[in-house]
Amino acid sequence: MKRYSAFAIAREGFRAHKGWDRAWTAPEPRKNYDVIIVGAGGHGLATAYYLGRNFGITNVAILEKGWLGGGNTGRNTTIIRSNYLQDPSAAIYEKARSLYETLSQDLNYNVMFSPRGLIMLAQTHHEVRGYQRTAHANKLQGVDTEWISPTRVKELCPIIELKGPRYPVLGGLYQERGGTARHDAVAWGYARACSAMGMDIIQNCEVTGIRTEAGRVRGVSTTKGEIDCQKLGIVVAGHSGVLAQMAGFRLPIESVALQALVSEPIKPCMDVVVMANTVHGYMSQSDKGEMVIGGGADGFNNYTQRGSFHHIEETVRSLIETFPMVSRLKMLRQWGGIVDMTGDRSPILSKTPVDNIFINCGWGTGGFKAIPGSGWGFAELMATGESALCEAFSLDRFRAGRFIDESVAAGVAH
Ligand SMILES: Cc1cc2nc3c(=O)[nH]c(=O)nc-3n(C[C@H](O)[C@H](O)[C@H](O)COP(=O)(O)OP(=O)(O)OC[C@H]3O[C@@H](n4cnc5c(N)ncnc54)[C@H](O)[C@@H]3O)c2cc1C
Repeated sequence: MKRYSAFAIAREGFRAHKGWDRAWTAPEPRKNYDVIIVGAGGHGLATAYYLGRNFGITNVAILEKGWLGGGNTGRNTTIIRSNYLQDPSAAIYEKARSLYETLSQDLNYNVMFSPRGLIMLAQTHHEVRGYQRTAHANKLQGVDTEWISPTRVKELCPIIELKGPRYPVLGGLYQERGGTARHDAVAWGYARACSAMGMDIIQNCEVTGIRTEAGRVRGVSTTKGEIDCQKLGIVVAGHSGVLAQMAGFRLPIESVALQALVSEPIKPCMDVVVMANTVHGYMSQSDKGEMVIGGGADGFNNYTQRGSFHHIEETVRSLIETFPMVSRLKMLRQWGGIVDMTGDRSPILSKTPVDNIFINCGWGTGGFKAIPGSGWGFAELMATGESALCEAFSLDRFRAGRFIDESVAAGVAH
């Protein structure tokens, strides 16, 4: 595969851009692979990439029922941060954030990582205490965050109204190297790198069954036929429960729709990401100028990938108190994704009751930011059977009661 570079762009400019390779190939599935990953979202693709890059395992197929990156990876609001409270969470999210710093160079693909800074607003005294505690925890974990005053919040984000009638801004938890990246570019970059290593990304190929024998995986049934494998990674976010059922075990997980919306594009007015968890809203400005707005998850379980009018109304109504300018914006698009929520709002990266089946799920409303770290750790777990990054996130924590309670950090916003 040809490298992308300024020189290559100039060269192709003189050749009417006829010399580019396809970013990834479109093969038919072979009969057998060492590893099959189900789900070509960011986490599945990153897992495949690090299996190849870190462990030399390249006889890999990534099976996707739709198009790659068409699940939550292509539907999220792209917030990246690592200011989590619990040590195992801070470790995996900070690993991911630090990998994002050089991901464009590593993949030779511009993922548009933009560490523009991220503020989580404290709008109640409970939040002040919670975020100050997180800032202290982050210091001990080596994660660079700080508690900032309302005046500093206003300096960083002049369009904020500090003295909202119900929820005045009392300060914020600030992560200077948090920010955003282009979501589908992350999927495309990993896909291109996987394809360059000889892996097969097979789109429009739904896994409809999982074959096991004597407690061990043998292969999968798909809409493109039977495929055998030595190891299987299930990385399907909102459909994790469905795939686990095919393999004969249950997951402590619920699927709900999470929605987001964008406004018409306007001139640059906000160069940080701001999250207001008390009112269930957060906002950043895209490079195109749209205000990217996210709200809470649906209050009932469902598998629908759609938006609904009451969410636009609720999210915008609550944001207006903190961002009055939102009342003058026209909303352009709205959509939804199916997120996979665990009880402690932390992910599952684990072996399963079936030998050589591994599961990566439960990222809920906030897994985009974790993609590189999750792929790194999960690849290690699949290749070697152990991973320090994943250890605390095993399935048996629900049986043993070793919850990683991030409900304050991850359950509401991102
Ligand atoms: C509206 C919204 C906003 C969000 N905002 C943020 C944010 O700002 N920051 C953040 O960090 N996170 C955010 N998230 C969460 C984040 O998007 C997800 O945690 C993350 O993208 C999950 O990635 P994934 O690869 O696990 O899943 P997905 O990208 O959903 O990929 C799973 C893939 O599996 C495929 N699949 C399912 N079943 C099968 C099958 N039987 N056979 C084959 N393939 C199958 C699906 O088609 C899908 O492509 C948001 C999510 C939503 C919906």
